[in-house]
Amino acid sequence: MSNFDAVVIGSGPAGLNAALYLVRAGYKTALLEKNTAGGQVLSTAEVENYLGFPKGAKGWELADLFSAHVNEYKVEHLRADVTSIETIEENGKMHVIHLASGDPIKARVVIIATGAGNRPLGIPEEEEYKGKGISYCALCDANFYRGADVAIVGGGDSALEEALYLSRIVNKVYIIHRREGFRGTQIYLDKIRTMPEKIELVTSCVVDSLAGEPALQKVIVRHVETGEKREIPVEGLFVYIGHIPNASFVPENLERNEQGFIKTDQEMLTNIPGIFAAGDIRAKMCRQVCTAVGDGATAASAAMRYLEHFNA
Ligand code: NAP
Repeated sequence: MSNFDAVVIGSGPAGLNAALYLVRAGYKTALLEKNTAGGQVLSTAEVENYLGFPKGAKGWELADLFSAHVNEYKVEHLRADVTSIETIEENGKMHVIHLASGDPIKARVVIIATGAGNRPLGIPEEEEYKGKGISYCALCDANFYRGADVAIVGGGDSALEEALYLSRIVNKVYIIHRREGFRGTQIYLDKIRTMPEKIELVTSCVVDSLAGEPALQKVIVRHVETGEKREIPVEGLFVYIGHIPNASFVPENLERNEQGFIKTDQEMLTNIPGIFAAGDIRAKMCRQVCTAVGDGATAASAAMRYLEHFNA
C-alpha cells in the first residue's frame, strides 16, 4: 500500500490549489483524479469574474494554467476512481483510500475536492433524448446546434452565462425558468435583456415534456400558475438547474447537509479528524472558481497544521 502525508481527491481549482500548497510546503502529496484535471471550469465557456483576467478567460485556459502551475512541483498525479475512505487507528487517525483499481492508498490527511455534477431535469423523457437534443454542457455541444434554436433550463449563473455563450453560436435561445426572479448575477441579466431577439426569457414555466423523432424537436413548457402549456420548437435543450455533490465514496459518518454537500468548519475540517473538504463539494453559499481556489488554500494550510502534530 503506498503511503502519503496527504491525498487530495479531485483536481478542479480547489484540489489543484490544495495540492500546490501542500507540495510547496514539502509534504508528500498525491492528487487523485478520475477524469481530466480542471473540474467544472473545463466545461465553462468564459470565466469573467476571476480576478486578474479583466477581459475574462476561457474555462479551459484557466484550467490549463492551474494544472501547469501544479506541475512545476513534485505532486504525484494518479488516475484513480475512489470507492471509499476508511479511517483506522495507527498512532492517531490514519485514512485508507480504496480505489476501483484495487490498490489502496494510506494518508494521514485527505482533502475531498470532487466538486459537483449536473442535477438532472428529472422528467421521464430525459434519458431518451440524451445525446439527441439534451445536453448539460454548452461548451461541449453548442456546435451541434449552430444556427438552430435551443432552450436552456435554469435561472442561476450557469444558465445565464451559458445562454450568452450560446447566443453567439445558435439562432435563438429560450431561457426557461420556474419563477419570475433570477438567482443569477444581475450583470448577466442586464446583458440578456439588451438582446430580446436572440434570447427570450420564458419565466414562471417548467419543462412539462419533450417531443421529436428521431431527435428533439420541441419542448413543451407549463406555466406554474395557470397550467397553460406552450410548445417551443427547439433542437437542443441545455439543462443548468444546479448541481449534486460527487460524494458517493465518502464515509457514512461524514456529516453532510440535506442536499448531500459536506459540512466543514471555517478551516475546511469535517467532523472526521484529518479529513477536509474544499470547493463545490462543501456546504457553502458561494460557488465560484475563486472560492474553490480559496477553499483549497485554507484546507491545505489547516491540513499542514494538523500534520505538524504527527511530525513533532
Ligand atoms: P444554482 O445557482 O443552484 O441555480 C440553479 C437554478 O436552477 C435556479 O435558478 C433554480 O431555480 C433552478 N432549478 C433548480 N432545480 C430546478 C428544477 N428541478 N426545475 C427547474 N429549475 C430548477 O446553479 P448554477 O447556476 O449551476 O450555479 C451553481 C453555483 O455556481 C452558484 O453558486 C453560482 O453562483 C456559481 N457559478 C458561478 C459562475 C460565475 O461566477 N462565473 C458561473 C456559474 C456558476 P430557483 O432560483 O427558483 O431555485
